[in-house]
Amino acid sequence: MKTVKTIEEVRRQVKEWKAQGLTVGLVPTMGYLHEGHASLIDASHRDNDRTVVSDFVNPMQFGPTEDLDSYPRDMERDAALVEAHGGDLIFAPEPEEMYHDGFSSFVDMTVLTEELCGLSRPVHFRGVCTVVSKLFNIVQPDRAYFGKKDAQQLAVIRHMVDDLNMDIELVGCPIVREADGLAKSSRNTYLSPEERKAALVLSKAIFRGMELVRGGEKDSAAVTGAMKALIEAEPLARIDYVKLVDAATMQQIPTIDRPALCAIAVYIGKTRLIDNFFTEDV
Ligand code: AMP
Repeated sequence: MKTVKTIEEVRRQVKEWKAQGLTVGLVPTMGYLHEGHASLIDASHRDNDRTVVSDFVNPMQFGPTEDLDSYPRDMERDAALVEAHGGDLIFAPEPEEMYHDGFSSFVDMTVLTEELCGLSRPVHFRGVCTVVSKLFNIVQPDRAYFGKKDAQQLAVIRHMVDDLNMDIELVGCPIVREADGLAKSSRNTYLSPEERKAALVLSKAIFRGMELVRGGEKDSAAVTGAMKALIEAEPLARIDYVKLVDAATMQQIPTIDRPALCAIAVYIGKTRLIDNFFTEDV
């Protein structure tokens, strides 16, 4: 297992693998890796001969008041986790390697990015689409792995790959949770012990929503209403959104009459956490 910092080194290594007829999987991450990331690396290791993990806190996807500077980092621990899960190469560029002086080309998307997280994070998906396009161009993987934890991101990237005819198979992987239900996230490290307890309302609300859908509830407002009531009962929680949307278009639907995504974003103190379920998975 090797860590490289330049685009040239990644290209050289991937070319060598491809010349040997090997397949390559890519797992894009922002580092501070946990079992959620590990599940993506495992899936790539299972499906491909070689796995590249990118480890890059992408400044472009953070808004001016967001947590770019405080985002946790630990390259040594990340390298050990990647190695333990069968990854072959970490690409950990500095921001200047990805965005040289005068950088001025962007990949942007309408519609899907104008709902859910796009509303409170207006520059986020432009940053995500741009960096993921760059990573796809740099690594040229056969497959790329994304977590359903970031469900809108997965839908946006699927749409981008389709719109722009990128020849890459996307694999969506299930949400990995802590033993008590909280979805694993690098941002969970921001939580104080008291906030960590309060953060359980997210998964509790998700499990309640799943239960209602499993029981045959078709009225979106009935599902989201029950979830909101649960979250509002927690004093440290502040709802950004609790919504039921069409799983492909991310537009809100009044009735669950097609594959849908139920997604929530909740502030616990200053930390914004997300969770979700797809109605197809309940
Ligand atoms: P991040 O480093 O937070 O940008 O995440 C990198 C990738 O890991 C994204 O595709 C995420 O959806 C995925 N991921 C993060 N947390 C989880 C989790 N708890 N379960 C599954 N995938 C996850």
